[in-house]
Amino acid sequence: MLIKRGAVLVLSGPSGAGKSSLISKIIDDIGDCYFSISTTTRPMRAGEKDGVDYHFVDEEEFKAGIERDEFLEYAVVHGNYYGTSLGPVKEALAGGKLVIFDIDVQGNVSVNSRLGDITTSVFITPPSLSELRRRLEARGTDSCEIIEKRIENAKREIQRVSEYDYLLVNDDLDHAAEQLKLIAKVARMKLPTEEINEFVNKWENI
Ligand code: 5GP
Repeated sequence: MLIKRGAVLVLSGPSGAGKSSLISKIIDDIGDCYFSISTTTRPMRAGEKDGVDYHFVDEEEFKAGIERDEFLEYAVVHGNYYGTSLGPVKEALAGGKLVIFDIDVQGNVSVNSRLGDITTSVFITPPSLSELRRRLEARGTDSCEIIEKRIENAKREIQRVSEYDYLLVNDDLDHAAEQLKLIAKVARMKLPTEEINEFVNKWENI
């Protein structure tokens, strides 16, 4: 059972959409928040750090985590496991923080089914598929094969934008960051259903 006082902001969108750059740009301006560090079985990329970008584990360890019911949600993306650990999320929510997730469309469905009343979701994308390809190639961190996988996944994911509260086109980083800041501030105002019901009960009885 989650103790809910904070709120949740789900960010999804293809790798190369600029989610990480946007988060670093806004993180100091949106109040008390907790950025959830996922666990993954995908190999570490150059420049990434264990415990900072992800908790990097092997498949056996990840599956043991599933068995122990440690994940709020998990999914297979591009052939690797990715999951959100429940413990730190519970703690951050109990502390009234805005919990930010960078998760895929499957993760968004799971989070909404468990925490829908306090969740705001944003799909972030570059302006076009050709721009996405250009960014992935310019980043130079993935092989051609992986880039093709990411492009195919992005084509599938974009079909599910309507499952999100907001669509954010990251054409100009500064402008997109301003928009995301506004969304984050409003996201914090979502109240858990129990709290709304309590308010209504009291309101009627005063
Ligand atoms: P990348 O390998 O580029 O870091 O991430 C690939 C995809 O996995 C992205 O769409 C990212 O949002 C998603 N992802 C990262 N962490 C999680 C997680 O904990 N759960 C789910 N469902 N997706 C995740």
